[in-house]
Amino acid sequence: MIRLGIVSPCYNEHDVLAQSASRLTALFNDLIAKGKITKDSFVLFVNDGSQDDTWEIISSLYATNPIVNGLNLAHNVGHQYALMAGMMNAKDRCDGVVTVDCDLQDDITAIEKMIDLYEAGNDIVYGVKVSREGDSLMKRCSAQTFYRLQSSMGVNAVYNHADFRFMSRRALEALSQYPERNLYLRGMIPTIGFRTATVDDTISERTAGKSKYTLSKMLRLASDGITSFSSQPMTIVLVLGVLMLVVALGMGVYVLVSLLTGHYVPGWSSLMLSMWFIGAVITIGIGICGAYIGKMYIEVKHRPLYIVADQLLHD
Ligand code: UDP
Ligand code: MG
Repeated sequence: MIRLGIVSPCYNEHDVLAQSASRLTALFNDLIAKGKITKDSFVLFVNDGSQDDTWEIISSLYATNPIVNGLNLAHNVGHQYALMAGMMNAKDRCDGVVTVDCDLQDDITAIEKMIDLYEAGNDIVYGVKVSREGDSLMKRCSAQTFYRLQSSMGVNAVYNHADFRFMSRRALEALSQYPERNLYLRGMIPTIGFRTATVDDTISERTAGKSKYTLSKMLRLASDGITSFSSQPMTIVLVLGVLMLVVALGMGVYVLVSLLTGHYVPGWSSLMLSMWFIGAVITIGIGICGAYIGKMYIEVKHRPLYIVADQLLHD
């Protein structure tokens, strides 16, 4: 039997929180009855600086439901950082943590299989989406494209896995040693090691509330997912530079031949075109290098990842 902690980040989740809490309570009762988890297992809702009354709801759930704990972050730090805050807060009070979004779009019945796989000796169990019925077409396509792009860039991430996963205490302990500031957990966790396994996850529709992942948040996550783990974009710039050199050499040969044969055509359009082309390539190159320099800038600052304002913990 393990003492389980479920960590669930919440950002403006007024509409879905109470419902999710009761679904998790039912799951806990079931798992306790089956002898899979201890009675002092808990759910930790992490309020990621919501503007609505999410924290008030968590507080009242805490007052009435002994499995509910709460962690209130001082401001909105984003999904990845809220997950980290929750995991680090929970790790010393349990044998393992499952992270799941508080809209419970993931298949929470898979948590039982995660526990079985932990008992069988796995330290990390990834929920892998086998069906994305609940996701919009746009989300499905963008996610698939992103996962492909990421693996072509050599990033070692689990295909079709988001942040629904189980981690044992020692895996969490290992994660706590990562000093980086740009968090992309799906890329970091596979680098920990230990025995890992996967379970099937079916995504259902959000039962209430709207997606809190705005396009800009999604793009930022995707950019972190590549630039934090792969230097391939810089290699692409290098390859482009080499290609440009080849083109320039070809032009040189052409000019030489035209001069020798007397068929020289003085035209400014080709000149302008190449100027613009080279200008664009250089700008793109600088942009990509800038992304890395930007990251270094953030890393050297070593700011705290999050600041906890309050915590409500049943012992
Ligand atoms: N979330 C968060 N901070 C944010 C944005 C989202 O903690 O700044 C949480 C949100 O409450 C939810 C999870 O991250 O529990 C995933 O968000 P959402 O379900 O809106 O994303 P989607 O499932 O549409 O990708
Ligand atoms: Mg969701």
